[in-house]
Amino acid sequence: MDDSKGLALALEEARIGYGEGGVPIGAALVAADGRVLGRGRNMRVQNGNPILHGETSCLQNAGRLPSSAYRGSTMFTTLSPCDMCTGACILYGIARVVIGENETYLGGEAYLKQRGVEVVVLGSPECKELMDKFIAEKPDVWNEDIGVEERIYSREGIKAPTGASDA
Ligand SMILES: [Zn+2]
Repeated sequence: MDDSKGLALALEEARIGYGEGGVPIGAALVAADGRVLGRGRNMRVQNGNPILHGETSCLQNAGRLPSSAYRGSTMFTTLSPCDMCTGACILYGIARVVIGENETYLGGEAYLKQRGVEVVVLGSPECKELMDKFIAEKPDVWNEDIGVEERIYSREGIKAPTGASDA
């Protein structure tokens, strides 16, 4: 599957999440042969569940799969994966992680690369606009989702790019 098509599935999930009043981060897991194995979105607000991020929700919806199913698969996610979702992708041997944007938040990309996962950042303005809108409206919910009290940009200790909004 074309990366932009995979990201479109993830973005659709993120938009549904926004409509539900949730954290608008979505994901889609696509097999090597292009089959969509699962889709999901952050369900912190909707289900009161702190571990259902976009990627983990997607993995849950994909259900139990043999390890071979993850081989060569791609996790599409609208936002750079946090430490928890980075770990889940590594655990299941997902081959590629395609990220909508990493300006709002930079998660475990360096760790993914270090563990041999291909990381592609598409720099999607639609993904960023959705997060900007959400963080401006509900900064406290966003901080809660990434486990901080005040806005941070990067889990990798990298400073926000110049011009990045400090919402
Ligand atoms: Zn996460």
